[in-house]
Amino acid sequence: MPALQPETRDPIPGTRPPVIAVRDLVKTYDPNSPNPVRALQGLSFQIQPGEFVAVMGASGSGKSTLMNILGCLDRPTSGTYRLDGADVSRERRRRLASLRSRALGFVFQNFQLLPRLTALENAELPLQYRRDVSTRQRRARAEEALVKVGLADKLRRRPTELSGGQQQRIAIARALVNTPRVLLADEPTGNLDTHTGLELLALLQQLNRAGLTIVMVTHENDVAVCAMRRLILRDGRLVTDARQQPADAQAHLAALLQQPANDS
Ligand code: ADP
Repeated sequence: MPALQPETRDPIPGTRPPVIAVRDLVKTYDPNSPNPVRALQGLSFQIQPGEFVAVMGASGSGKSTLMNILGCLDRPTSGTYRLDGADVSRERRRRLASLRSRALGFVFQNFQLLPRLTALENAELPLQYRRDVSTRQRRARAEEALVKVGLADKLRRRPTELSGGQQQRIAIARALVNTPRVLLADEPTGNLDTHTGLELLALLQQLNRAGLTIVMVTHENDVAVCAMRRLILRDGRLVTDARQQPADAQAHLAALLQQPANDS
C-alpha cells in the first residue's frame, strides 16, 4: 500500500500547517434515490494544531456526518479532507481504519467502555493491534494516560465501579494512548451533571493547553464557551466560524463550589 504523501506546499513562514483542512466538503446520502439527503453542502475550514474547536448546530444540521468524515469513519461524496497534510478523502477503508487508530482519539457521550475490562485494560485497547508496541509498553502507556486524567488510584477498577465522570476519564485516557494528532469528542459532557461536566472540560482544557488539538461537538452554550473557536452548522453549511476567548472551566468550577448551597 503506498504511503500517504504529505502536502508539498511550504507553509507560510511563522505559521504551522493545519492539522485538519477540509475544502468544499459535500456528503450526500442516497445520491441516486429520488430524495437524496444533502447532509453537507460544501464546507471549507482549517484547524491548526493546538486549537480547541466546538462544533454546534441544530439536530440534523450535519454535525455527526462531519465528525464521521473527520474521524475517517466515512468518506465525503466530493471535496477534500486533509489530515496532517495527507489527503484522506479517497483512501481505502482499511487504510482509513489504520489512520483512525493512529492519528485520532475518540470520546463519546456514552463513554463506550467495555464493562468487563478494568480501567487499564480499557485504556490499552487502541494499542491492542499495534505490533510495534510490546505488551509491557502497552500497559505502561495506558497507565501513564490514566495518571494524566487523574485516575492513578483506579487502574484496576471496572467501569461499573466508577462514577460517570471517572468513566469518561477512562475514555479520554483510551483516546490518548496513541498520542493522537486530534481528539474528536462527541458531546463528551452530555451524560454528566454540571459539576462533573465542568471537571471534564477543565481536564480537556488542561490537555489542550499541553498541545492537544480538540474538536468537540456540543449543543450546549455553557460547554462551547470553553472552546477557543466555534463552528456552527445549519442545513449542512457552515454559518459561523468564530474565534473567542475561552472561558476557564476550572475557574467556573471554583466559583460554583463557592456558591452557598441552595436550601429551598
Ligand atoms: P446532526 O448530527 O447535526 O444531528 P446528521 O449529520 O446526523 O446531523 O444528519 C444530517 C442529515 O443527514 C439529516 O437530514 C439526517 O437525517 C441525514 N442522515 C444522517 N445519516 C444518514 C444516513 N446514514 N442515511 C441517510 N440520511 C442520513
